[in-house]
Amino acid sequence: SERIVLGPLVAAVDQGTSSTRFLVFNAKTAELLSHHQVEIKQSFPKEGWVEEDPKEILQSVYECMDRTCEKLTQLNIDISNIKGIISDHSEKLLIITVWLDLRTQSTVERLINKTPGRNKNHLKHKTGLPISTYFSAVKLRWLMDNVPEVHKAVLSHRAMFGTVDSWIIWCLTGGKKGGVHCTDVTNASRTMLFNIHTLAWDPDLCKYFDIPMEILPSVRSSSEIYGLMVSGCCPGCLKSGCLGDQSAALVGQMCFQDGQAKNTYGTGCFLLRNTGTKPVMSDHGLLTTVAYKLGRDKPAFYALEGSVAIAGAVVRWLKDNLGIIHADTDLEKLAAAVGTSYGCYFVPAFSGLYAPYWEPSARGIICGLTQFTNRSHLAFAALEAVCFQVRELMDAMNQDSGIPLSQLQVDGGMTSNRLLMQLQADILCIPVVKPSMPETTALGAAMAAGAAEGVSVWSLSPEDLTEVTSEKFDPQINPEESEFRYARWKKAVQKSMNWET
Ligand code: ADP
Repeated sequence: SERIVLGPLVAAVDQGTSSTRFLVFNAKTAELLSHHQVEIKQSFPKEGWVEEDPKEILQSVYECMDRTCEKLTQLNIDISNIKGIISDHSEKLLIITVWLDLRTQSTVERLINKTPGRNKNHLKHKTGLPISTYFSAVKLRWLMDNVPEVHKAVLSHRAMFGTVDSWIIWCLTGGKKGGVHCTDVTNASRTMLFNIHTLAWDPDLCKYFDIPMEILPSVRSSSEIYGLMVSGCCPGCLKSGCLGDQSAALVGQMCFQDGQAKNTYGTGCFLLRNTGTKPVMSDHGLLTTVAYKLGRDKPAFYALEGSVAIAGAVVRWLKDNLGIIHADTDLEKLAAAVGTSYGCYFVPAFSGLYAPYWEPSARGIICGLTQFTNRSHLAFAALEAVCFQVRELMDAMNQDSGIPLSQLQVDGGMTSNRLLMQLQADILCIPVVKPSMPETTALGAAMAAGAAEGVSVWSLSPEDLTEVTSEKFDPQINPEESEFRYARWKKAVQKSMNWET
């Protein structure tokens, strides 16, 4: 039968914490043509440690590419015109640690002790970030201090540092045989070694962490040609887009205007608000980060970001550690059976609290239990916990920007839970809007790649994308009820931070 030639296709690697995906879009309509997903194993070798295997990650990228291309070939779609792309989890540092990993806590304490007035915001004017276990410079410092092989390799100039995007680009462009060692401004802005104003590695920051600048990848815009792929499903195609996953979702949700915001519900939750071409420094515990720079000569756009460590991760915990659900989708049924937490509050501060508190010593707490409380109430409290954490981020963001959000655009794996979406609208007291095409992260990355190659997907405005429809969840409870529950939640958060004293 005839091969279908669709014109340019764009593809995206979406390398997340819990899985890797490869997706191929029609560049003209942004229609998702085919995709494949592979779960990624996480290991927890010690309490607080979270590791993934870089070889397994790379293997999963190849597997997703191959399977997707097979599916397209079965559909008779000509794959010779695919452009390559990437998107990833910014703070994961290659070799070992996932962003949730807590092993660097003592390194963080030591670094904070070194600052005048023990101020975790000491480097914020340059980096937009507080000193925390979350960011990669601290993880690299830990490695150099604790793994002699790494220390030796760095000293003898045999080491290269990179986030997952740089690992994948390096491997796909040839690896040891001339691979390109680069990253983009969005991923670089999450390392704590990058000056978000000058858009370059900062010598003072490198000195502060005692990390030699030569081991860092070159920093490029989010949309330009990085190199030629020599392996994977389409050797010879250009690697031309790179965005941190949260930036990719912001682009995929078309939040290009100052003031537009999206929240992604994955392993953690990430609320980003576009602040235009000027970085806005937060007074309420949010991060300032580079949102995107779509071309070498294009301006950088910035975002305020609120991050919550544990969102979907609490679902995994209920499943794997407590066994009260067998599949992610069971949670909604279990919680809906009661429709209330019956006064139970669950603060899943498993790896401390991120925004707006940045309190690494906080730990999880479940309070308000009675003889009557059952697993359905606990399930409901877990869903509510995700919503309350997002409410805290939104409040901080509204205070920093002075303009309250009027609606929230959402995406990510957890948004398939309709009860969660309704609860979120109830707790935020504003509508929650979810696009029918949930793969916004991959779409954003594909758009960045397309832009670099002059593929027309970029010039599409939201109205042109016939595929983009959305579902809206309006608040259904009265604001007093919502405020009452939120106030109780805040009390529980205080307990999670002070439970030992
Ligand atoms: P990441 O990009 O961080 O890997 P995803 O966006 O793929 O995350 O979302 C996966 C997370 O969403 C997992 O933690 C999973 O437990 C959770 N999840 C998926 N489906 C549901 C559901 N129906 N209800 C609640 N949680 C869900």
